[in-house]
Amino acid sequence: MTTTLVCGHLNPDTDSITAAFTVAELLYQRGIKAKPVALGTPTPETQFILDKFGVSAPEVIESFDDQEVFLVDTSDLTQLPDTSKATICGVIDHHKVGALTTSNPIEYWAQPWGCTATIVKHVYDFYNIKMTKISAGLSLGAILSDTLLFKSPTTTAVDEQVAEDLARLSGIDDVYEFGMEIFRIKSSIEGISANDLLMRDYKEFEMNGKKIGCGQIEVMELAMIDNVRAELQETVNQAQKERKCDTLLLVVTDLMKEGSELILASNTPDEINTAFAQNLQADPWVSGLMSRKKQIVPNLEKVFAK
Ligand code: MG
Ligand code: MG
Ligand code: MG
Repeated sequence: MTTTLVCGHLNPDTDSITAAFTVAELLYQRGIKAKPVALGTPTPETQFILDKFGVSAPEVIESFDDQEVFLVDTSDLTQLPDTSKATICGVIDHHKVGALTTSNPIEYWAQPWGCTATIVKHVYDFYNIKMTKISAGLSLGAILSDTLLFKSPTTTAVDEQVAEDLARLSGIDDVYEFGMEIFRIKSSIEGISANDLLMRDYKEFEMNGKKIGCGQIEVMELAMIDNVRAELQETVNQAQKERKCDTLLLVVTDLMKEGSELILASNTPDEINTAFAQNLQADPWVSGLMSRKKQIVPNLEKVFAK
């Protein structure tokens, strides 16, 4: 029997790594031999959550060639290695549907909810499989991370309901405190190079023939980047040229003030200003902006689709 690899996106975040683990376990419970893998090493935040529940990081792979792969937290070819020699056998995701096509029918679970982990819990329920305490804890961590403690506009009532169930299953009494612990680690940027900060949670998108790069870091307060702002701008400028992006932006989200500063380099700055309805050269702070998938990407697609 072949082993199905369960894998999230490149530059994996907590959701991608924990969903690989929980979905591999779910498949195993369904009689399918499966193994969690990742397209990169965990961030400090993810490592903290894995350590908390005593789980080791999934093996890092670089290629999907000749493998059977179950995707979690993405269906976007720009966030995956070449899939042409792979068999994609399933997807659980909460992003816009990417350019993926398959030659066989597959199981595809998608909901516009705040986290893949929320959908995964529903798939467990669908199969009447009880989630382990560890998987529940990992999933709760992913929901808190992806929804920014339910503050992100991606958050739905379903995420909050499932988080409650998961807190009960994992025995975590103080969900808020767990979320704040995650926030504190998310925001520790000291001693990390500007390039690593840009690449920590970086994704590229194809928009009408234009390549758009977008990284995001989340901090407890914007003042935390005061010492590295100039260096971040320099890194963004350089990466935009090297990666041949029309626009490359680093979104620095203030978790407490609930908005983001945009550090960007663009060949089409007017379009970007239109996308955010603001002169970003004069004022790079966008109040209320927290979500790449629900705010930034749709905003940009609106101007670039024209
Ligand atoms: Mg993700
Ligand atoms: Mg996610
Ligand atoms: Mg994210």
